[in-house]
Amino acid sequence: MLVVEDEPSIADLLRLYLSREGFGVHVERDGRGGLAAARSLKPVAVVLDVGLSEMDGTEVCRRLRADGDWVPVLFCTARDDEIDRVLGLELGADDYITKPFSPREVVARVKAVVRRADGPSASPLLELGRVVVDRDAHKVRVDGQEVELTATEFDLLVHLMRHPGRVLSREQLLSEVWGYAAVVGTRTVDVHVAQVRAKLGDASPIRTVRGVGYSAEAVAAG
Ligand code: CA
Repeated sequence: MLVVEDEPSIADLLRLYLSREGFGVHVERDGRGGLAAARSLKPVAVVLDVGLSEMDGTEVCRRLRADGDWVPVLFCTARDDEIDRVLGLELGADDYITKPFSPREVVARVKAVVRRADGPSASPLLELGRVVVDRDAHKVRVDGQEVELTATEFDLLVHLMRHPGRVLSREQLLSEVWGYAAVVGTRTVDVHVAQVRAKLGDASPIRTVRGVGYSAEAVAAG
């Protein structure tokens, strides 16, 4: 857990409460240090003060998102105009909390953002409609029946199911699932989607969004 907070008394309290919950806590006092620590330490979540010296919290978050880093961020704001900045920039901030806050409240919110972001404390099970994916056991079940997928088909399905309702382009899926967008073409994505659909049958949660890409949506039991 990374805490970026320039007020030592608040930083100390956050460190105390978060470490009691079993999180390893690293504290930075300014925005530039916070950004560097987020990039090098890869924390499970960041508690990020908005009003910081060197670089403000919204800029730290903006730069992380520009790197493609979607680590969950809980913003701490002291004033209404800071909240407006956090919300207005659409940084992909997971949540914000206004000062003064109780440490207990911060802990509860941090745990919620980590859970939502599918961090290490989250369940390995992904469920959508009739499909259940167990990422630890690398197994897929449809209506309780196990279905065999190849490693790539599995990764593709997991990737879509982790963002239910969100449309992902073929290019996004290529770079995020295959990781070498330049080598294989987007047709590869279509081929693998077709294979997953063939295996999951009418329970397949993968929906084609014409001209855009694919999304995962729950299919009710039929
Ligand atoms: Ca501050």
